[in-house]
Amino acid sequence: MTTALITGASSGIGNVYARRLAARGYDLVLVARATDRLNSLADDLRETHGVKIEVITADLTDANQMQTVGQRLRAEPPIDLLINNAGAGLAGGLAHADPQALEHLLRLNSLVPTLLTAAVLPGMIERGHGSIINVASVLALLPEYSPGIYAATKSYVLTMTQSLHAEVGARGVYVQAVLPAATRTEIYDRMGGDISKVPDVMEVDDLVDAALIGFDRRELVTIPPVPHHGDWEAFEQARMVLAHGFSNAQPAERYRK
Ligand code: NAP
Repeated sequence: MTTALITGASSGIGNVYARRLAARGYDLVLVARATDRLNSLADDLRETHGVKIEVITADLTDANQMQTVGQRLRAEPPIDLLINNAGAGLAGGLAHADPQALEHLLRLNSLVPTLLTAAVLPGMIERGHGSIINVASVLALLPEYSPGIYAATKSYVLTMTQSLHAEVGARGVYVQAVLPAATRTEIYDRMGGDISKVPDVMEVDDLVDAALIGFDRRELVTIPPVPHHGDWEAFEQARMVLAHGFSNAQPAERYRK
């Protein structure tokens, strides 16, 4: 049997991942703070799909509660798929941000996926297989559209995924960064926003179904709304052209006096 652990499974994108994976026959470990919502989802999925579901109530920004999740990631039955999905936004720019709110966002969006990945990886490498899905955002590539540090937290998730692929891709561990654009979930309400003012909002079922097609194709980066995968490849090629210039012991001519 294959077991997936999903953070932020109580609503939005995580909730749909749970439904889709249960339909594919995965046993699940559901993680979030809202115990009632997790239990009700678990009952529904057990009854509909006959899969095993564990529920872990945890505020992932709390180091002790994180330990419980870390322990489960190292325990049996092994976790074959980790979905680092829990995340939040933060309204407003950096200039007037509350330092505690900044720290909270950095923890939830960047530190938590890092530590959970580090907890699950050794077992996956030892077994020679496993998958990790990291939910980032298109804002990782478009930070000018997002004041404050949200885009930077998601750019971290994308970069971590790319580094991880280089580190463990050849050792049987598949990693995928999913970059949603605007998707209809509770994230806007939670940060005091108004989704009705956001253009081109994707339905959450469509987003996850597309992301899972990218998963089945073993894409490293999946951006569901982008019409042509070639656009991403062209972006990567341009990055590699730039990178050719990094191998110089001397500053470029234009920076010499
Ligand atoms: P959502 O409906 O608000 O879901 C967020 C999930 O994270 C909930 O299950 C929430 O559960 C959980 N969570 C939040 N804080 C937590 C904490 N401290 N500890 C544990 N769990 C916590 O939003 P969503 O859109 O599905 O977000 C999922 C991911 O997609 C996030 O990483 C987000 O950045 C990313 N994303 C979303 C969009 C979009 O437009 N919706 C676009 C790009 C990327 P509890 O409240 O029960 O803890």
